[in-house]
Amino acid sequence: MIIFTHKIWTVMNNIDIKSTNPVGGKSKNFIYEIIDEDLKTNKWGGNVHTRFPPEPNGYLHIGHAKSICLNYGIARDYNGKFNLRFDDTNPEKEEQEYVDSIIEDVKWLGGDFEDRILYGSDYFEQMYLWAVDLIKKGKAYVCDLNADEIRQSRGTLTEPGKESPYRNRTIEENLELFERMHKGEFPNGSKTLRAKIDMSSPNINLRDPIMYRIVHEEHHRQGNDWCIYPTYDWAHGNEDSIEGITHSICTLEFENHRPLYDWFLDQLGVHHPQQIEFARLNLSYTVMSKRRLLQLVKEGFVDGWDDPRMPTISGYRRRGYTPESIRNFAEIIGVAKRDALTDIALLEYAIRDDLNKRANRVMAVLKPLKVVITNYDSEEELEAVNNPEDPDAGTRKIPFSRELFIEQSDFMENPPKGFYRLVPGGEVRLRYAYIIKCEEVIKNDNGDVIELRCTYDPETKSGAGSSNKKVKGVIHWVSAKNCFDAEVRLYDRLFTVENPGADEDWLGKLNPNSLEVISNAKLEPSLKNSKPLDKFQFERMGYFCVDFKYTTNEKLVFNRTVTLKDSWKK
Ligand code: ATP
Ligand code: MG
Repeated sequence: MIIFTHKIWTVMNNIDIKSTNPVGGKSKNFIYEIIDEDLKTNKWGGNVHTRFPPEPNGYLHIGHAKSICLNYGIARDYNGKFNLRFDDTNPEKEEQEYVDSIIEDVKWLGGDFEDRILYGSDYFEQMYLWAVDLIKKGKAYVCDLNADEIRQSRGTLTEPGKESPYRNRTIEENLELFERMHKGEFPNGSKTLRAKIDMSSPNINLRDPIMYRIVHEEHHRQGNDWCIYPTYDWAHGNEDSIEGITHSICTLEFENHRPLYDWFLDQLGVHHPQQIEFARLNLSYTVMSKRRLLQLVKEGFVDGWDDPRMPTISGYRRRGYTPESIRNFAEIIGVAKRDALTDIALLEYAIRDDLNKRANRVMAVLKPLKVVITNYDSEEELEAVNNPEDPDAGTRKIPFSRELFIEQSDFMENPPKGFYRLVPGGEVRLRYAYIIKCEEVIKNDNGDVIELRCTYDPETKSGAGSSNKKVKGVIHWVSAKNCFDAEVRLYDRLFTVENPGADEDWLGKLNPNSLEVISNAKLEPSLKNSKPLDKFQFERMGYFCVDFKYTTNEKLVFNRTVTLKDSWKK
């Protein structure tokens, strides 16, 4: 695996991250070149039709987002069509909950499938007829070997496979047996339908692959209508063909399945889309396989599929990511032909860049230290800018009073060199307010600092007319009597190693400190009426989003979406 860190800083410094139109634009990739060529030669009669074909056996993750952005982006850019198709051919692992979440996630990302929510299982009848067609052509047979026997007779990369003793059944016998399989006369696993291709093909996928298995299991949409289910290899190309897909875009691991899909469609003589493979997204410090994500959920390592630490679309949404940021991320990483590990910092860059423009600045103190301004005995409202990046965002009033909270980490009794915040006898500016001076440090019996007594300089009020006095440090604060308590959840990476997926003991690499819950952060009063999914920048602390799962009428809960700077930058 190559790790993509080297490029990040150049990308971040140079790219205009606004969504670019890939046609003719800079992000035109090799798939666009293929499509341009097809349009020139009129290969598909001028049509471009793509699809996103998830199996509904889990929630979508950021890798799927890449595929959605790519497939939908192509349809959009060429005025083509984009289908959402559930590849729901396996009755054992699929559930309606996953279907619903996938529809929601694709819509949220902006993938516009219009009214085309399609299901592979709706084509079972057509596929069955096509299988019968292949049997009639002498290209498929019913085999009585069990799964183990089939695996053992497949051969290896260096040795050819062995032909099944059932390979030369007559067409009539095959038709009859397949019909009886269909009617439910045989138990699970007792027979399969296999394509009759070539047991000594150098491509193992062409060694008489299985087309149908017997599985007596209820299907989430088809109920008990079927007890034979098509394999992925048989179903996938057929589904694309039935929908008139022109460019069937998939990840690299299907490259050596392409000759098999080609074979099926050529034997059937039906519409034959062009398959194009691209490298899947792998993201550092996380795992992406649905099997592993499911394990994290089932075994309680995370708080559901939408846990804000999960690389799922629903997890990112709950954490405060925006669809725009994920689309921009997909744009930046581009599309390649070679597998790599993408640095998660690039995704964080994309969300920061987006929230910087849209999130209002507010003040919140996460770990409070009380400050008493001994020479201030009044109350006033100060004016604060909502978003310096957005002139339309306006200003708001924030209350100032005698007792304040500041961040514990903004005071140090014995500061190192270069610490410009509050120190005994030192001065600091309170954002949008005054310069204060630390006159006295109050400690409890353990010697912990529990309060600072300070004085303020009335001549230093922020804004017009303020004195010229300058100090190096500016810190945030809230007024003790006006602020309110909220829960704030801080997240770290889910895993401690860069590529946990490659590790046998990947669960052992979970970061035990990936979640820190602060139960009584102090927030400025303007935040009081925040609604789930509202997004803010807490000055100096990062971007935060109201959690929709745990927020109640009594208590607001905030998730930190991302820190302000890349704290892992070396
Ligand atoms: P997983 O391997 O995580 O279980 P999958 O590939 O089995 O996922 P599907 O539901 O089959 O999941 O995926 C739907 C589509 O998303 C496929 O076309 C697949 O190519 C694409 N896809 C899945 N994972 C990634 C990824 N990491 N990067 C890009 N595309 C992906
Ligand atoms: Mg798959």
